[in-house]
Amino acid sequence: MKSLTTKQQLSQYLQAERSTGATIGFVPTMGALHRGHITLIERARQECDIVVCSIFVNPTQFNDPKDLEKYPRPIEADIEKLEQAGCDVLFNPPVNEMYAGNEQWHLEIGELEHLLEGAFRPGHYQGVTQVVFKLFDIVKPDKAFFGQKDYQQFMVVNRMVELLKLPVKLVMCPIERESDGLAMSSRNVHLTPADRGHALVLSRTLQQVKNEFGAADIFTLKEQAVTAINREPGVELDYFEIVDGVTLHVADQNSKSVVALVAAKVGNTRLIDNMILR
Ligand code: AMP
Repeated sequence: MKSLTTKQQLSQYLQAERSTGATIGFVPTMGALHRGHITLIERARQECDIVVCSIFVNPTQFNDPKDLEKYPRPIEADIEKLEQAGCDVLFNPPVNEMYAGNEQWHLEIGELEHLLEGAFRPGHYQGVTQVVFKLFDIVKPDKAFFGQKDYQQFMVVNRMVELLKLPVKLVMCPIERESDGLAMSSRNVHLTPADRGHALVLSRTLQQVKNEFGAADIFTLKEQAVTAINREPGVELDYFEIVDGVTLHVADQNSKSVVALVAAKVGNTRLIDNMILR
């Protein structure tokens, strides 16, 4: 695997590959790689000739400086996992390679920016679109692979691709879970053994809602879910919503796809999870 740290190195390398007709698959990450990330690499490996993974802990998408500071960065272990997964290129730039001083960025993505995660993490999706735009501009991927784990992020990036007419196909990959149901996340390393037990209420409740979806109305399902999560010690719910999979507004009979999304603090760690109900 090639390990590159500058935009110039990466775009030169990819230009040469592209000129031979190779297709490029891209998996942007913040590192601390787990099985969820690796499934994205494997999917890219299946669908594209060259697989590029970026590891960049993007400061502009963090609204909590402590969260940024304590974000795990086990780069040696990450490199080994990427090599085993058959990744061709790792792009791991320093912050000053991606941001030259005080840049301005604003993309009008409408209400998607302010719903759900957006309401609890102001500015988060501006930071996400800012860095994903920059990365797409350097990598110029044919396909980019994102996890359903960050469902709203996928919708936001998709909106950016539509608005700016970016020539990339986005692929959403399913959520990878631990055997007990906990959605894999780089932040799970921060959970104490007790937190780890309490955190299971999130996936368990999503699964219950999925099981009962269709048999009970959305309002009742949501109330039951909120009650179950609020009963769990050590868990502080930010939101549990059952939404239209496209608009992310509360779902109704006309919603072709329906998704239940949850965010909560478990101990000091904020976790998100979701399940597609329809
Ligand atoms: P992150 O490193 O958290 O920015 O995540 C990088 C990519 O991996 C994003 O597209 C995430 O949605 C995806 N991802 C994170 N966790 C999982 C998971 N448990 N299963 C599948 N994809 C995931």
